[in-house]
Amino acid sequence: MTKQQTLICDILANVHDHLTAEEVFFRARERMPNIAMGTVYRNLNQLAADRQIRRLTVPGQPDRYDKNPMPHGHLVCQNCGKLQDLFLPDLVPYLEQAAGQNITHYELTMGHICPNCK
Ligand SMILES: [Zn+2]
Ligand SMILES: [Zn+2]
Repeated sequence: MTKQQTLICDILANVHDHLTAEEVFFRARERMPNIAMGTVYRNLNQLAADRQIRRLTVPGQPDRYDKNPMPHGHLVCQNCGKLQDLFLPDLVPYLEQAAGQNITHYELTMGHICPNCK
């Protein structure tokens, strides 16, 4: 792992939130002042491709990055956009049965209104 990748993993490991690339960049710059936005993007992509982290696609929002590459679902507040982890049993066997074929992965995102917004 490069120095930049270690820094990015460290940033993600120390937050409870799922950060956007921009948020990762601002935090990275505090510790590596000359790091470029493009470097952050490239390393986030690489880490996601290596399954060290997970990229989350939320409709209408920038992609977020998740330190936890293990399968889990997310609750997304439809008002403020806050993302919350939801740990569920592994659904792959069920989904494969329903699909009638092997699947490589799944992404489960559920909408709700968070307690803060209620
Ligand atoms: Zn909310
Ligand atoms: Zn998550």
